[in-house]
Amino acid sequence: MAVSSAHSVNSGALTPSAIVGVIGAGAMGAGIAQVAAAAGHPVLLYDLNEAACDKALAGIRAQFARLAEKGRLEPAQADAAGNRIRAVRALADCAGAALIVEAAAERLDVKREIFASLERHVGDACVLATNTSSISITSIAAGLRVPQRVAGLHFFNPAPLMALVEVVSGLATAPEVARMLHATAAAWGKQPVMAKSTPGFIVNRVARPYYAEALRVLNEQGGTPATIDAVMREAGGFRMGPFELMDLIGHDVNFAVTESVFRAYFNDPRYTPSLIQQELVNAGFLGRKSGRGFYSYADGATPPTPDLEPSRTAPADVVLFAQDGPAAALHARFAERIEGARRDDAHADELLAVAGRASIALTDGRTAAARAAETGVADLVLVDLARDYAQAGLVALTRALQCSDAAYADAVGLFQQAGFRVVGIADVPGMVAMRTVAMLANEAADTVNQGVCSPADLDLAMEKGVNYPCGPLAWADAIGIGRVHRVLSNLAASYGEDRYRVSPRVAALHAAGRTFRS
Ligand code: NAD
Repeated sequence: MAVSSAHSVNSGALTPSAIVGVIGAGAMGAGIAQVAAAAGHPVLLYDLNEAACDKALAGIRAQFARLAEKGRLEPAQADAAGNRIRAVRALADCAGAALIVEAAAERLDVKREIFASLERHVGDACVLATNTSSISITSIAAGLRVPQRVAGLHFFNPAPLMALVEVVSGLATAPEVARMLHATAAAWGKQPVMAKSTPGFIVNRVARPYYAEALRVLNEQGGTPATIDAVMREAGGFRMGPFELMDLIGHDVNFAVTESVFRAYFNDPRYTPSLIQQELVNAGFLGRKSGRGFYSYADGATPPTPDLEPSRTAPADVVLFAQDGPAAALHARFAERIEGARRDDAHADELLAVAGRASIALTDGRTAAARAAETGVADLVLVDLARDYAQAGLVALTRALQCSDAAYADAVGLFQQAGFRVVGIADVPGMVAMRTVAMLANEAADTVNQGVCSPADLDLAMEKGVNYPCGPLAWADAIGIGRVHRVLSNLAASYGEDRYRVSPRVAALHAAGRTFRS
């Protein structure tokens, strides 16, 4: 029988009286059941393990009671929401559901079997959604009687708190099914985005460089984990640095996601896992949960600190050159804070400042050593990207091998005088924040270029799913597509690796003088 691409479902949000079934009552299933019940739906919760179901139910009711204590729900509403969830003891008990969300084990055979058996009990209009993080929606739907009704409804952990939901369409998914799930997630107070079923969907794919670039810099001894974390947090504006975040997620989980995305893209070097992280997994140093990862979580362990440069004196003779793009705010900060600095706005220059013996420039993806050799400026010091130089409390500097100690000290003194704490990193191409942001933008560009999602949904997914301070595409626009293109091209030239190839979307926008979002 040929499968029609249509499905007889209204593409508006489910009415609150419609029954929602949730299969799997672990961390995610319990959270999803709580969200659906809070939105007014009668919820049927099923788990192979009856004890898991009962535990989830008790946990959800306690959550609702806590919300009532905090005044976020009336006590009667909290009771009613808790009572809307019923544990059921067989999949057949979900027969009356209009939507079923599966959050059982992350295995294709398990998910296929659950859906195949549900199809024997539910009506044809019932939509079957899966919370999978990594399995192809197309594969889960294949072989079902009505594959058009299957889609991904990917919540983030913890589901009641995290706003993002990826609505993922497989090859057979009917557009009205995806639209209904999108509208329903929005009605549940979530921020849904639409995505095509490709490995990692949006967030788990686009976030890879956040970890991978930090691991590369560490592997090349660019800086310590604490130093790199401080740069990404205090200059980059991210809520957590990559190493502390991997320690929180757990290296087993983070490494498994990286490996699965790498394999799913047929070993594309973009996603190559890190030997450093593999060693941590092999050692059982899984992060916070095992008491040790990049950092120690033992009682009394000293908190890690970044490698701050000692205090230096700012040189007397400072010339500032006007800047386009992100360093304009740095130029303005220097102009305001460095007394006696001369401004030379008439000379467009790739240098940001000359401070005493140091020539200072924003990193462009070349090493300081290569750039010093190419420009004939030996005493070259590079500064890393900051999300907002006007506000940043810390910046990273690096120096060419050719650069004298005295010149580097002058550069450090200048930044310190302007109110920055300064960390020194080794001369790795693109430094830390710049290469990470450029690679996030590149991955985001490819994701959009391959039709996985719209630019607006991509940025929303990264802001809501992983709390980025700004969507990577909007960030690329703010830095300038030309600059992102240059950083990536220079990274590719520095390493000679396909990993840093420029996305065709970045190349096209750069050539056309266009932007992603504006
Ligand atoms: P979990 O291990 O906490 O819970 C899974 C539950 O499913 C268990 O209670 C188990 O007894 C039950 N189960 C297993 N096989 C079953 C079956 N055949 N029928 C009914 N119940 C079954 O796992 P979790 O973290 O809640 O993850 C569930 C799903 O959500 C997975 O697909 C996972 O990849 C996905 N996911 C997890 C996260 C996360 O951060 N934990 C985030 C997004 C998506």
